[in-house]
Amino acid sequence: MQVAVFSTKPYDRRFLDTANGGRHRLRYLDARLSAETAPLATGADAVCAFVNDELDAETLQALAGLGVRLIALRSAGFNHVDLAAAHRLKLPVAHVPAYSPHAVAEHTLALILTLNRKTHRAYNRVREGNFALDGLLGFDLAGKTAGVVGTGQIGELVSRILIGFGCTILAHDVRPNPACEAMGVRYVERDALFASSDIVSLHCPLTPETRHFVNDALLKRTKRGMMLINTSRGAVIDTAAAIRGLKNGTIGSLGLDVYEEEAHLFFDDRSNRVIQDDVFARLLTFPNVLITGHQAFFTAEALRNIAETTMANLTAFETTGRAVHEVPAEKVATTSTSLGQRA
Ligand code: NAD
Repeated sequence: MQVAVFSTKPYDRRFLDTANGGRHRLRYLDARLSAETAPLATGADAVCAFVNDELDAETLQALAGLGVRLIALRSAGFNHVDLAAAHRLKLPVAHVPAYSPHAVAEHTLALILTLNRKTHRAYNRVREGNFALDGLLGFDLAGKTAGVVGTGQIGELVSRILIGFGCTILAHDVRPNPACEAMGVRYVERDALFASSDIVSLHCPLTPETRHFVNDALLKRTKRGMMLINTSRGAVIDTAAAIRGLKNGTIGSLGLDVYEEEAHLFFDDRSNRVIQDDVFARLLTFPNVLITGHQAFFTAEALRNIAETTMANLTAFETTGRAVHEVPAEKVATTSTSLGQRA
């Protein structure tokens, strides 16, 4: 098949070429997919897209008009796709349901440990010959309570690792995970979790229900000085509320791998440009905020799995008319309205 592969970087191309083995004709594009860039897919049978591509009704309509027959996402999440529109256009959407939950869980721990023990600041100090410890005070993870929101593949692993550190785990999920219950994780309501946790880590998908899940009202009922970590999707946190929480001390530290307006920032080198997003710029001024640019997934194992599953989706569609991992039809109703909150 001819495949227009949007939002690709050299590292994506390397892993995709290896997994493809020359079978499909992959047309690599730097451009982010949107209604404006959709014509770049002219002549393609399938379009391959990533997390910050914009698959709204207008884009999907344009792609269908060009004769595109499959959308193959290189991500697990599909909150950036108008599934109802895809359904109407009879355009199947395939995704990569699991590539490496370990990658994201381990990055979550990297954020927690760095924020707590301030190794990022210590690194710079020591290189400058400053061996003072003031400002580097951390706390023992052992004996602390960690709240995990969303105990699917990633949340389960985060719980397991934190139990290894000696933490007590509270969890909140619409569907409790028996493997977590077996580890001693206790499920509680959202407010109880935020009221009692020293650390809260978010691992739920972005849906209309979870958009701005962390907001001003919730932060009023939160344990003062808690550490908040988000490696799920940016819009799960109301960023303006988080900034207010940081200023008044409700949030003691904040670790983000995702940001609600990241689509116009992340994955590109902007070091010579002025950041136009004042909310993001404000976040960067806090000494107790650590941000990574949506890199939690970024391990060799994950990139290999993403590339191999994407190729399996394309090949199955070519040979049988159905991708291996089509986004299930029942997701249409729950996700179409979350569009616009890209992460
Ligand atoms: P998963 O589907 O295995 O688990 C998600 C869990 O969230 C499920 O247990 C589900 O029941 C729960 N959930 C759904 N709605 C909820 C709600 N309203 N309140 C509480 N819990 C709710 O997904 P996963 O593989 O563990 O991934 C979790 C999220 O991590 C993904 O949705 C994705 O957005 C994000 N992710 C981020 C990166 C990254 O690089 N930062 C990479 C992969 C995934």
